[in-house]
Amino acid sequence: MQTFEALESNVRSYSRSFPAIFSRARGSIMETEGGRRVIDFLSGAGTLNYGHNNREIKAAITDYLASDAVVHGLDMATPAKLEFMETFSSLILRERGLQCRFQFTGPTGANAIEAALKLSRKVTGRQNVISFTHGYHGASLGAIAASGNSFYRAASGVPLSGATFMPYEGYLGPAVDTADYLRKVLMDGSSGVDCPAAILVETVQGEGGINVAGKEWLQSVQAIAKGVGALFVVDDIQMGCGRTGEFFSFEFAALSPDIIVLSKSLSGYGLPLSMLLIKDGLDLWRPGEHTGTFRGNNLALVSATAALKTYWSSQSLSQWVQRMGDLMRCRLEAIASKHGSSFAVRGRGMALGFDCQMAEIAEATTHRAFEKGLIVERCGPIDQVVKFLPALTIDVETLNQGLEIFEESLVETLK
Ligand SMILES: *Cc1c(COP(=O)(O)O)cnc(C)c1O
Repeated sequence: MQTFEALESNVRSYSRSFPAIFSRARGSIMETEGGRRVIDFLSGAGTLNYGHNNREIKAAITDYLASDAVVHGLDMATPAKLEFMETFSSLILRERGLQCRFQFTGPTGANAIEAALKLSRKVTGRQNVISFTHGYHGASLGAIAASGNSFYRAASGVPLSGATFMPYEGYLGPAVDTADYLRKVLMDGSSGVDCPAAILVETVQGEGGINVAGKEWLQSVQAIAKGVGALFVVDDIQMGCGRTGEFFSFEFAALSPDIIVLSKSLSGYGLPLSMLLIKDGLDLWRPGEHTGTFRGNNLALVSATAALKTYWSSQSLSQWVQRMGDLMRCRLEAIASKHGSSFAVRGRGMALGFDCQMAEIAEATTHRAFEKGLIVERCGPIDQVVKFLPALTIDVETLNQGLEIFEESLVETLK
């Protein structure tokens, strides 16, 4: 690790939380150079929903590489891209009655968010974007302008503009419906809030502390967007691709976003791949207007297609996520009530947060957990929430082992 300290920029972050050199990984287990095996409840911040080095997906990309098929071709047409779009259309879009165009953006989630905001501004001719308290949308200037966290915002070094923050569901306590406030402000020409090009929302705020929006609230926000002529954009980068049980995190609320943003687990293998699903009629881009060298990388499209065929041809993964999510929630709630009066458990599907209220407790617990063999991260405005994002494909035994390590670590921290 000393060489990393000497050579790598001070900006590195996860290598500080998990100080080890990781050399191999399979499913939910990562192995360090020293041969220590640790359970992974971070999953690349939600990038590895199907686990590390998933066998079926790996087979598809090793075959592709062996065949000398095109790996990089900018955004030229390839059989890999065609098969991905056809598979995604038949297994995901058609099943859900969605009609969209695919826009492959640069490889990061942030670039896809930039594209979504640019397109919304272009379609509406407006500049402002409504985003929500504790929201996180990426670290490039446009995305960070729509993100709440002051630590990241401050690092930008220039004025951030183009976004107005509104209270997320529950921000003002259970008694206040923050959608009412949003409606009031946007309907009032003298509220001081410019009419927005888009309303950008996460259905569960991942980095923001696993804050969960309910069906009615989300439906209200969608209706408000429609009412004021703004695009309704769902950032499903972290909560999409099955994390909350269904493929898209908004299906439970029967939403119909104008733009859906996907990234993290889209490739299914940890390869970078990001895209927008643009509702029919809104694709007003001129050719090449949002460009980039690495758009729709073919290897990632091949792994994404394999992931879709393996896990989304039937309901079984969704059902498994619901069951494992319930199991996790029950266990975490039991831990919360047994060890403290102020702990809270939140989440949906297999995205769960254990709110320790105090940053020191969350920090000491996750450090201890890593010593005992569990990788688990923190989130929330002061990193006070322990965030559980195990692979959706995890087996019950490993899941229970990880939860056991978490409980032991919490108990030792509280002593
Ligand atoms: C991770 C994340 C992003 C940014 O993606 P990057 O690939 O890190 O740029 C945007 N929105 C949400 C909800 C995310 O979780």
